Amino acid sequence: MTTPALLTVDRLRSGYGPIDVLHDISLTVAQGEIVALIGANGAGKTTTLMSLSGLVKARGGRVMFDGHDLTTVPAHQIVRLGLAQSPEGRKIFPRLSVLENLEMGAFTRSDPDGVAADIEKAFTMFPILRERKAQAGGLLSGGQQQMLAIARALMARPKLLLLDEPSLGLAPQIVVQIFGVIKELNNQGVSVLLVEQNARMALKVAHRGYVLETGRVTCEDRADKLLNDPRIRAAYLGE
Ligand code: ATP
Repeated sequence: MTTPALLTVDRLRSGYGPIDVLHDISLTVAQGEIVALIGANGAGKTTTLMSLSGLVKARGGRVMFDGHDLTTVPAHQIVRLGLAQSPEGRKIFPRLSVLENLEMGAFTRSDPDGVAADIEKAFTMFPILRERKAQAGGLLSGGQQQMLAIARALMARPKLLLLDEPSLGLAPQIVVQIFGVIKELNNQGVSVLLVEQNARMALKVAHRGYVLETGRVTCEDRADKLLNDPRIRAAYLGE
């Protein structure tokens, strides 16, 4: 039995100003999957996520998510449909408290009891955020900010979570913790599209992966196969 696709990206084209960055990207994320998107600096990974969440406008192709073509839907409604992004560089609100950052993540919702319950869930998943809940987001360490960025994205109750470089700039033991959380979220039913420079960690946690080179998908396979592919090992795994 095959699992139905939650996200089907079909020949997506996107870019900035006169420049096309993505050239006919096609990929899928099935319900319950973690999919890794790996590639060198500037390959177009962030642009892919931004185009899916509507923050960069698609120039061609289709993005079907849970029965909707996202290329015709404004960004704030895309969140409502169940797709949330934790952006590169975390982009938490530095002057707002941890609690207020979480509340901002729930801006599309109108169920205060549900929001309160989800904040409690976030604090259970990330106990350090409970300890720091009144502290300004900007005063947290890098790892804590990453946890907050993920927790904030989860406040939208996403079916699909887009994670952009969650390990960037973090100490190795914090990276392990963050990837543990990604696995745990996936066990709870959240599908994940994960962009990472740390290709080894990403492919270890993912079910499948895509390789992006200068705005094109050049390879896709099961994550374990990519991890053992000599070309991928040489190009992306430092061997
Ligand atoms: P990185 O790991 O460095 O973030 P990436 O694979 O995520 O790399 P993108 O950030 O998507 O790559 O960048 C793809 C290309 O688009 C690069 O050539 C980059 O210079 C260009 N680009 C990215 N953002 C913008 C922007 N806001 N305006 C113009 N060009 C941009």
